[in-house]
Amino acid sequence: MKTKQDNLKSQFKQLFRSMDFASTHPSLDKDGTEGKRMGEIYQQLGELWEFLALQCPHHEGWRKTREGRKVCKVCGTVRNAEEYWLLLPRKGRKSIGRRVTPNSTETFPNKKQASILEDSIRFHGVKVKVDVHNAYRSKLFSKDDHDIAIAAERLVDVEESGVECSFGDPQIHLKLKKHKPGERPPSAAFVFELPKAILKKLPLLVEFNESDEMVGLEVFRCGRGGKGE
Ligand SMILES: [Zn+2]
Repeated sequence: MKTKQDNLKSQFKQLFRSMDFASTHPSLDKDGTEGKRMGEIYQQLGELWEFLALQCPHHEGWRKTREGRKVCKVCGTVRNAEEYWLLLPRKGRKSIGRRVTPNSTETFPNKKQASILEDSIRFHGVKVKVDVHNAYRSKLFSKDDHDIAIAAERLVDVEESGVECSFGDPQIHLKLKKHKPGERPPSAAFVFELPKAILKKLPLLVEFNESDEMVGLEVFRCGRGGKGE
C-alpha cells in the first residue's frame, strides 16, 4: 500500500521533473512571450515546491551538496535554513511548533541573545503570544543605571475579549481591566489579608479539594452580558 510519504516522494519527483523542464526550456534563451511565460511557470513551480516541502518530515536523511550544505533527500529543503511559510490544514487540529523551555544556565548580555522563541498568532479572534528566553542582563527595570538579571522564563499570554491571561513559571496572572495612564496603579493583597467588606465585593469562587489544595478559580464577569457590553 502506498503511504503518504510515498505519495509525497512521487509528487516531488514529478515537480522536480517539471522544474527541470521549465528551467532548461529553449524559449528562455530567446526574446518573446513564450520565454516570459516559461519563466512565470518556473516561479509558480518554485512556490509549489516551498508549500509542498512544508509537508515533508525530512525523515529520509540529508544529502550533502557541492557547496557543503545539507539538503533533504526527498524535498530538497536546506537544513537549518529559515522557513518563511507554514501550511496548515483548514479542517482538523492545527499544530505549530513544539513546546520549548529555557535551555541554558548562562546569563546572556541582552534579551536578543537570550531569546529562544518569540512568536504570536491571532486565532479566530484570540491572541496568543509565546516568549521563551534564557536569563539575561537588563537596564530596563532598574532605577539606578545598574544591570539587573532577568530570570530564564517561558511566558505565554492569551488575550480574549479584553481579558489577558499570562502564564509564567511562578504564577498565572489574570488581567481583567487594563491600567490606564494617569490612573492609580492597582493595589494587591492575599485573600486572607482582606477585610470581609472588600471580600464580599469580589466575584470570586475558589475551588479546593479534600487536602485544602486550590484546584480552580472562577472569576465571574460582573457587569457583562446583562448590560449588553
Ligand atoms: Zn524533506
